[in-house]
Amino acid sequence: MYTRQSRWYVTAVGGALILVGLYLSSLYSYLLFHSFAEIFSVIVAAAIFIIAWNSRRFLDNSYFLFLGVAFLFVGALDLVHTLAYKGMGIFPEYGTNLATQLWIGARYLQSLALLIAPLLIGRRLRVNWLLAGCSLVTALLLVSIFYWRNFPVCFVEGVGLTTFKKVSEYIISFILVGSILTMFQKRRQFDVIVLRLLVAAILVTIASELAFTLYESPFGFPNLLGHFLKIVAFYLIYKAIIETGLVKPYDLLFRDLKLREEQYRDLYEEAPDAYLSCGADGIIKRANRSAAELLGYSREELVGKPVSDLYADTPSGKAVAEGVFRRFLAGEEVRDQELEVKRADGTSVWVNLSVRPIRDKEGRVVASRSIMVDITEHRKLDQLKDDFIGLVSHELRSPMTVITGAINTALTEAERLSPEETRQLLKDAAAESELLSNLLTNLLELSRAQAQRLVLYSEAVDVKKIIGEALDKIKRQYSTHKFVIKLPRRLPPVQADPLRLERILYNLLENAVKYSPSGGEVRVSAKSQGEHLVFGVSDQGIGISPADQSKLFAPFQRLEKRPSGVRGVGLGLLVCRRLVEAHGGHIWVESEPGHGSTFFFTMPLSQSPPSDNYQK
Ligand code: ADP
Repeated sequence: MYTRQSRWYVTAVGGALILVGLYLSSLYSYLLFHSFAEIFSVIVAAAIFIIAWNSRRFLDNSYFLFLGVAFLFVGALDLVHTLAYKGMGIFPEYGTNLATQLWIGARYLQSLALLIAPLLIGRRLRVNWLLAGCSLVTALLLVSIFYWRNFPVCFVEGVGLTTFKKVSEYIISFILVGSILTMFQKRRQFDVIVLRLLVAAILVTIASELAFTLYESPFGFPNLLGHFLKIVAFYLIYKAIIETGLVKPYDLLFRDLKLREEQYRDLYEEAPDAYLSCGADGIIKRANRSAAELLGYSREELVGKPVSDLYADTPSGKAVAEGVFRRFLAGEEVRDQELEVKRADGTSVWVNLSVRPIRDKEGRVVASRSIMVDITEHRKLDQLKDDFIGLVSHELRSPMTVITGAINTALTEAERLSPEETRQLLKDAAAESELLSNLLTNLLELSRAQAQRLVLYSEAVDVKKIIGEALDKIKRQYSTHKFVIKLPRRLPPVQADPLRLERILYNLLENAVKYSPSGGEVRVSAKSQGEHLVFGVSDQGIGISPADQSKLFAPFQRLEKRPSGVRGVGLGLLVCRRLVEAHGGHIWVESEPGHGSTFFFTMPLSQSPPSDNYQK
């Protein structure tokens, strides 16, 4: 198998063979060796440029683009340096100094590029400016060396390297050390392997520079070693850029793509909303888990099914669904369409449907992408509210009819009516007024509670007194029942809004009367328990089934099995619950169908003695 390790092995052996070959060429002619060595590094420099340039779109940091462009010019200078080398005979009038000057120029450019490159990470590079800048520097160097001849002398025939040349090599080595430091500051931006390759490249370059300070003749051993090291250094940079510009981008690209694909699939699959895709032929093509759950099918059953199978059985439901499908075929986007759809088990759900047509290249509608949100509960609540409003209006109207009727009769028939009859009429009117006022108070309390505007005026309340008030009121309304109070002798006060406490008791007492037969006993009790007082209102009435008990305190619930003729809108218990909870207490019921019910609620005990502020 062609593993990474064996690849390294091949590279190392191949590299060693090249270096040996180069060495052998130096035995025949140093000029041949030098030309090979330099041309090799020029080719590598060009390759660095070509790769950096062509992968610049993938390079997420400007390090390599900058380095690639700089290396093109370094390579160009190195090429001229090769041609100018002593013995090449191309620039006969210049001598060894020319090639050395070009060499030093190229090394300055290379080391400065390595120093600056890390500083450009994270910035946008303007390649045109970069090319122009590098061209200018290179041109100035060449003009200074060839034409103005003011570039410091680097080699004196017979004497050897000048101080400038040697010091320059040291300076260049320092710049290279600096470039390692700047690169390390930005090390997070580099892949570990790439960072290692670059550091190795720079260290080898430094070694090569130091070798070049040593030579006496351009044909000596230090020069040979320096060239070997230079080849190795260039190769390492080339490897680094291959890793960054070619291997990694694709790795990264594919990893990103795969990751994103998985994310989108998850998003689609696990979305709480139901997604459904259907072709122009009306066949379901895709569905996510929520869609399958909403419609009660498995996903396999759903895909391949005609959408028309989902149309509700009602004529209007079908008509709306067909309308949506026609609009989608016509290329129209459908938004927030409320629609009844049929589930697998024949039941129906209400959904909010949005459909987006998908088109092919020619613009033909080929598929839909639909989102469905289950709004069945919303609709139920809306329906409940509508029913409630209807019921309340009716319940407000009927006492008004009695009141106006009674008063009108009392007025117009005053002469004909006996005082007894008139009294009865007014009594009826008063009773109905009380009912009306009671209903209005409950409505008001509920609307305050729903709008979070319920303000309690709490104080220390004498429980016995409040129970008495509530009972007086109920007795004025209903004379049909026997009322019993059961209290311990010593009862601590509660911390409550007295009017609200009276309202809770009144509502519970009224229910006890309404839902138990005439002559039955209605019992009010209270006893302290920990930090609370527990109130109880019991009747000997019809009772409530366990299933109904859980629904009792929900908004607008009236139970199906109610004695006929009992009036009510399903408001009393909801108001009790809101008021009790506003006091920090809770309310519950214990009941056995046919054996009466007891409603319990708690109120916090007061720390202070009861006040006398409570005025009726
Ligand atoms: P309503 O105006 O209908 O009485 P409530 O909120 O006070 O509204 O009560 C809700 C429902 O709970 C009533 O319709 C009735 O079916 C049931 N209910 C309440 N109190 C009792 C009770 N003491 N015994 C039996 N059923 C009761």
